[in-house]
Amino acid sequence: MVIELINTGAELLLGRILNTHQQWICRQLSDIGYSVSRQVTVDDSASSIEASVAESLGRADLVITTGGLGPTCDDRTRERVAALLGRRLVHREEVMDQIRGYFARFGRPMPDRTKVEALVPEGALILPNAHGTAPGLAISANPRPGQPGRSAWLVLLPGPPRELRPMFIDSVIPLLHREFPLAEPHFSRTWRTSGIGESFLEERLEKPLQPYLEKGLDLGFCARVGEVEVRLAASGADGLAKISEAATVIEAEVGDSIFGEGDELLEMALVQRMDALGKTVAVAESCTGGHIANRLTNVPGASAVLLAGYVTYSNAAKVRMLGVREESLREHGAVSEVVAREMAEGARRDSGADFALAITGIAGPSGATATKPVGTVFMALAGPKGTTVKHYLNALDRETFKFLSAQQAMMMLWRELRPM
Ligand code: ATP
Ligand code: MG
Repeated sequence: MVIELINTGAELLLGRILNTHQQWICRQLSDIGYSVSRQVTVDDSASSIEASVAESLGRADLVITTGGLGPTCDDRTRERVAALLGRRLVHREEVMDQIRGYFARFGRPMPDRTKVEALVPEGALILPNAHGTAPGLAISANPRPGQPGRSAWLVLLPGPPRELRPMFIDSVIPLLHREFPLAEPHFSRTWRTSGIGESFLEERLEKPLQPYLEKGLDLGFCARVGEVEVRLAASGADGLAKISEAATVIEAEVGDSIFGEGDELLEMALVQRMDALGKTVAVAESCTGGHIANRLTNVPGASAVLLAGYVTYSNAAKVRMLGVREESLREHGAVSEVVAREMAEGARRDSGADFALAITGIAGPSGATATKPVGTVFMALAGPKGTTVKHYLNALDRETFKFLSAQQAMMMLWRELRPM
């Protein structure tokens, strides 16, 4: 089966926004055993849309477009596709009802132009939009109207990711399963690890997984800042069983570095685990400027586990809010094992939390000393069993430095909470 993806939008070609649909859709499809064979990005002029859709329909069984379904004059996908396929655009009252309902829900007046979103090429299926107004559309079409030939599916999706993603999962995946059932079932599972490099991970896993790989299991790694994904995939009736067996090997070999599966983030795993254990945490941050607190509070339910976040950027704040000793700062400097320890212990004492994490480091580009290069970071975890401190060198740009340092500190807590 041939799938092609067309992302429309001048802003993509002008470099104003990153084409995340390309990655997200390809990933969704590959997770369930389908693959995209070609992807193009085109501007949203009528001729570009028409030409690219016509070209793809000439080759593919399924063509997916993104963007250009909105109400403004630069949104031309619906109209150009209808013209290309030789279909009339017809007003569909049930779509109009949904659009009116959307505006009513937010108590906003409906702009007149929005009506164009209820125009649908004849014969198209409506893919409801739970998070916006323009519905997606799915059309079974003959790529050469008026002439005999094979038919293909054309799926039109809206541009905003928060509209496209749920629509893809709720409507496009079921359509795929219905119209293009796989010859054999496909399974995949992804683990997320942190604190172990990609090559080490591969070294640890390749040998013990060899027998499974020989039986047709697919093993893949994907490295990002502060984490590496391990992915297993298998096709066939026994695919799931193969993955489950191999999963025990992965758990045994690198379980202490795994914090989650699929799309789970470290902060989600932490909040969930702490909540389940009834434990609380406080964070004392210097160089990360509240990054850990921010990530933890992105997770629903964080209030049950996060008691306090102290952003103590200056020495004075470290002393006043966390009780760090003046002489520790004088003798060892703010970026030191001793100060990290005192920050964590002070945050734990002041907040009354079961655990406290602290970070102090040099994000750069300035601030290095003879013994402490840019990227030097100390992090401490204070808990009922005492305090541990770690030292890393994360010589990176400031944002990456903050993310990675926070990840490393959060992993200290994750490892502490992990059942042995
Ligand atoms: P709208 O009703 O918002 O106009 P639309 O279906 O017409 O939706 P576009 O106008 O093409 O979609 O895009 C709307 C917004 O969606 C863009 O400004 C951009 O923020 C986001 N977007 C569009 N395409 C992509 C993409 N490929 N990757 C990431 N974001 C995208
Ligand atoms: Mg638009």
